[in-house]
Amino acid sequence: MSRREYLKNQKQKGRRLIGVFPAHYPREILWAFNSLPAEIWDPPLDIEGANAHLQPYICSVVKLGLELILQGKGDMLDGFLFPHTCDSIQNMASIVYDYLGVGKPCYFFYHPKAPYRPSSRRYYLEQLKSLVSRLERDLGPMDENELRRRVEQGHHLASILREIYDARRRGGLSASNADFYRMIRQGEYLHPDDFIPLLEDFLKASRGGDGKGPGVILSGVLPNPPEILNLLDELGVRVVDDDLLCCGRRIPMHTTMAQDPFEALVDSYFAMPPCTTKDSPLKGRVDYLLEKIAASKAKGVIFYLVKFCEPEWFDVPCMAEAVKEAGAAVLTVDVDLNQGLSGQLTTRIEAFVEMIGRQQEA
Ligand code: SF4
Repeated sequence: MSRREYLKNQKQKGRRLIGVFPAHYPREILWAFNSLPAEIWDPPLDIEGANAHLQPYICSVVKLGLELILQGKGDMLDGFLFPHTCDSIQNMASIVYDYLGVGKPCYFFYHPKAPYRPSSRRYYLEQLKSLVSRLERDLGPMDENELRRRVEQGHHLASILREIYDARRRGGLSASNADFYRMIRQGEYLHPDDFIPLLEDFLKASRGGDGKGPGVILSGVLPNPPEILNLLDELGVRVVDDDLLCCGRRIPMHTTMAQDPFEALVDSYFAMPPCTTKDSPLKGRVDYLLEKIAASKAKGVIFYLVKFCEPEWFDVPCMAEAVKEAGAAVLTVDVDLNQGLSGQLTTRIEAFVEMIGRQQEA
């Protein structure tokens, strides 16, 4: 079933659909309201109207998100949620809410930015409760038992994702790079009742890779254009781990089920890996990436960057330097979403793979 058909089907079942822009938000709260977050990262659209509202140096995540609204492709959605991810998303939220007048409820979510203090936990807790009361105005009262159930389900989902990532890191997953991310990214719109069994089947069916071929780690926002993954597959390169905002960076490193579901959500938020969109200190990000390289024995890191993504680009020079000092190779690619692979990019990736292949043999 296509994403559109699935969402239509969910709506027929009585679930409300909330279009969610990147990246961090408490999806368990939406589930508890019998709502389904449909994340908007890289819809396959041609940019027609968005350029008239945005500066030319805005990332294509924002351009495509706005384009989706302008082309009316989000008409089946019942509302939008804008997390405070970066200035670009913030500006788009203002264009959509203040100027376009989409005629649907718009929700805003302001998560804390590092450095974290004890007050950051209190602040996050207040933001969660404020989102709940805003949603209650439109959707009716939330059942706290249902929230608890959905938080437990979120923990279960995170533990399966960690298991899949661990198996891949150890070379024990047979899925291709393209299939891996096709599966993981379905979590951007599938309800957990459907996504969890799908992931469990995927893990069962993919256990037992041969761990052959040089390993690389992807760092950046999202694995688009996906043709890069296909090319890595063709070249026999295994993606062994990632530091991608839409994938690994949203899986809590550990979870504990606090008595209070709100407290459990706070614990999960602060257990997420370091991230540019949370202003995590550079040292934390470098250490996190170096640990991944050591654990997976990766030969290189591909910084898979979206053009004009300021939060990511600020950190890349220091991150790349640290990776090289640790003895791994670096490739930085700067892409527009859904643009396929240029001949030049193909050549650069092939040269990079040849280099890490030589290191692997040495
Ligand atoms: S790609 Fe970067 S700049 Fe664009 S929305 Fe995502 S974090 Fe913000």
